Amino acid sequence: MPARILDGSKIAHDIRSEVAAEVKTMAAAGVRPGLAVVLVGHNPASEVYVRGKVKASNEVGLHSEQHTPPETATTADLLAVIDNLNRRDEIDGILVQLPLPPQVDSKTILMAVDPAKDVDGFHPVNVGLLSTQRPGLVPCTPAGVMQILERSNIPIAGQEAIIVGRSDIVGKPVAMLLLNANATVTVCHSKTRDLPEVCRRADILIAAIGRAGMITHHFVKPGATVIDVGMNKVTDAAVFQRLFGGRLYKNAKREDSFRTKGSTLVGDVHPEVAEVAGALTPVPGGVGPLTIAMLMYNTVKAAKLRRGSRVPELTSK
Ligand code: NDP
Repeated sequence: MPARILDGSKIAHDIRSEVAAEVKTMAAAGVRPGLAVVLVGHNPASEVYVRGKVKASNEVGLHSEQHTPPETATTADLLAVIDNLNRRDEIDGILVQLPLPPQVDSKTILMAVDPAKDVDGFHPVNVGLLSTQRPGLVPCTPAGVMQILERSNIPIAGQEAIIVGRSDIVGKPVAMLLLNANATVTVCHSKTRDLPEVCRRADILIAAIGRAGMITHHFVKPGATVIDVGMNKVTDAAVFQRLFGGRLYKNAKREDSFRTKGSTLVGDVHPEVAEVAGALTPVPGGVGPLTIAMLMYNTVKAAKLRRGSRVPELTSK
């Protein structure tokens, strides 16, 4: 039986509605949470992401503003921007869009963001709060993965969770969240021996690798839940053919769009996995939409934590 497809777009929409309702309640009490996005220079991909974040902020009723220092900005210039945002009381969340230009020391910049306003959850203080199960700001994509699992009624406690990828942005925080939710967690990476065999132990398999279609059916235990975090732009016709050339995985709409645009967005999980897995997130329309939804949630959470009020619980279904 083909896998149940976990609809990330629908879950993200639900979360954004819940956040919008919370923002409305806060507005009635005279508080409007504010998000500042810092975008340095003109990276076309970053510009697209930032546009999406600003649009979503407006839709849920947050105050949002963009700061756009030039491509030539130095570490000192950006520290001054961050310092100003840290001081402004009406700003609850600060997001520095990565990557920063090469002359800028990214770690110094991310460390300078006030942990209470660090809506990306990358500051070591928030990493520490997560690993000791204290209230803090959790990175958006990993928090989104948890929302997909919880709202899809996938059991987590006691389950074997295998994560492929150990980045600070995705793999490690997902591992910590799953461990906090009482899964038995294994984190794999490029030096892991017998990766397919390890992955086949998973009840929940998380792919956060950055390699188009690497997770084939050999990696998946029948019935497992597979969460595909990967977002890979495929431009090579041979790679496209490997992923979508099979009789079962033919996808006319995607073929048309690949032919017209010369590229398509694919995950780390091969489409054939839909024949083995019990549940699977699609790409696009799986984890991706949750990242912005959780950024909206984190901005409201930061506003509440800073003001010492109760943080809104997200409904779990
Ligand atoms: P990184 O490049 O930082 O990390 C990739 C990880 O995968 C590393 O730990 C690496 O191992 C591991 N890896 C690479 N090749 C292999 C291999 N052959 N076998 C086993 N492990 C391997 O990537 P990110 O974590 O930042 O992102 C991962 C994917 O998720 C990307 O496709 C990215 O675009 C996507 N992403 C999607 C988001 C969304 O909103 N949906 C948000 C963020 C990321 P090692 O550490 O040993 O090098």
